[in-house]
Amino acid sequence: MPEGGLAELRKVAERVALERGVKLNPDGRIVEAILKGLLRNKERFGKPYCPCRVVTGIPEKDEPKVCPCAWMMEDIERKGRCHCGLFVKG
Ligand code: SF4
Repeated sequence: MPEGGLAELRKVAERVALERGVKLNPDGRIVEAILKGLLRNKERFGKPYCPCRVVTGIPEKDEPKVCPCAWMMEDIERKGRCHCGLFVKG
């Protein structure tokens, strides 16, 4: 897997989950689909923007959408998962 590929993004997501005391979604198909979306955005826009949100091209609007996004923990607290469902309550 090349640097910055799917395996790399998975490692980052696993580290984020560990650091924040949450888990990756137990449904591996969901994790795979979201990681692919993050990779696509990284290749297209240069950063792994949330695949469940619109990238506007306006830096101050897009920066909070880089995964893990600004709303991740708040959403997990409230709904048990982040908006995309990549991370779930630990
Ligand atoms: S909603 Fe989930 S997958 Fe999307 S950017 Fe936020 S933490 Fe990442």
